[in-house]
Amino acid sequence: MSFFATAEHEMERLKYFASPEGRDDLYQYNQKERRTVLEVLEDFPSVQMPLEWLIQLVPMLKTRAFSISSSQSAHPNQVHLTVNVVSWTTPYKRKKKGLCSSWLAALDPCEAVSIPVWFQKGSLPTPSPSLPLILIGPGTGCAPFRGFIEERAMQSKTNSTAPIMFFFGCRNEDADFLYKDLWLTHSQNNGVLSEANGGGFYVAFSRDQPEKVYVQHKMAEHSRRIWNLLAEGAAVYIAGSSTKMPEDVTSAFEKIVSKENEVSKDDAVRWIRALEKCGKYHIEAWS
Ligand SMILES: Cc1cc2nc3c(=O)[nH]c(=O)nc-3n(C[C@H](O)[C@H](O)[C@H](O)COP(=O)(O)OP(=O)(O)OC[C@H]3O[C@@H](n4cnc5c(N)ncnc54)[C@H](O)[C@@H]3O)c2cc1C
Repeated sequence: MSFFATAEHEMERLKYFASPEGRDDLYQYNQKERRTVLEVLEDFPSVQMPLEWLIQLVPMLKTRAFSISSSQSAHPNQVHLTVNVVSWTTPYKRKKKGLCSSWLAALDPCEAVSIPVWFQKGSLPTPSPSLPLILIGPGTGCAPFRGFIEERAMQSKTNSTAPIMFFFGCRNEDADFLYKDLWLTHSQNNGVLSEANGGGFYVAFSRDQPEKVYVQHKMAEHSRRIWNLLAEGAAVYIAGSSTKMPEDVTSAFEKIVSKENEVSKDDAVRWIRALEKCGKYHIEAWS
C-alpha cells in the first residue's frame, strides 16, 4: 500500500507498519481491531491502488456455517436458521458487527433474495425416533434441536418415540427466550418434551437474578432424571458457543455420573468417554 500512497505521512506510516519495528503496532491496528480492507483504505485515503491489485490482495469471503433449525417433515421445502447478530466493541472502543449475520438481519422478509447455499453434513447425526435424547443448547445452540424436536413431534403422531430432555439457556426470560412457545407447547399434554413422557424442558435464565444460572446448574438440579435416561441408553447432543460451555457441560455430566452411579470422578470421566466412543456424545460448537 505504501507504494501507492501519495501523502507523505501515510506512506511513512505504512512503511513503519511493514517494518520489523512496526510489527506490534500493526498487530494492534489490524488483528486486534479487526479492521476490514475498506476501513484500512478509508484510513489511508491517498492510496490509489489499481483495481486489479486490490482484487488480488483482498481474500475471498469465507463461507459461514449455520445449523438447520427446522424439520423437513414439519416445514417441507423450507430451511430455517436461528442466527445471532454478532456485534462487539474493539479495544479502541470501535463498534463492530459480524458481516454475514448483520447482512442476514438487514434483509427485508417481504422481499425475495437469492443466497448461494451449500449443504454439508454436520457433526450432529440425525437420531432415530427410538433413541432417548439429552439435548443441551443454550442461546443459538438451540438451532439444531428445534429441528430435532419438531421432527420427533411429527414422528410421535404415528409411532411411539423415545423421550427428550432439553436444557436451554438465555440471559433474560423477557429478552431472548427463543422459541418459548414451541418448547412450552411440546412440554405439555404428553408432548415430546413432557415429563409425563419421560422427557423435560428446563431453562436457565443467566441474568434474571443476582447470581448467574447456566444450563449446567439446571442439569445438576435434574441429576437423577438425567442419569436414568443415560442408563436407558440416551444419546447426548451439545450445541452452541465454543467458549466455555462444552467444557462446563461435559464436567456437569461427569459429576452427574459420579454422583448418581456412585463411582469415582475418574470412572465418571471414563464413562462419558465411552459414551463418546460409541457415538452417543456429540458436540457442535462455534465462536
Ligand atoms: C458448524 C457450525 C454451525 C454454526 N451454527 C450457527 C447457528 O446455528 N447460528 C449462529 O448464529 N451461528 C452459527 N455458527 C456461527 C456462524 O457460522 C458465524 O460464524 C457467525 O454467524 C458470525 O458470522 P458473521 O459473518 O456475522 O461474523 P464475522 O464478520 O465473521 O465476525 C465474526 C468474527 O468476529 C470475531 N468476534 C466476535 N465477537 C467478538 C468479540 N467480542 N471480540 C473480538 N472478536 C469477536 C469472531 O472471532 C469472528 O472471527 C455456526 C458455525 C459453525 C462452524
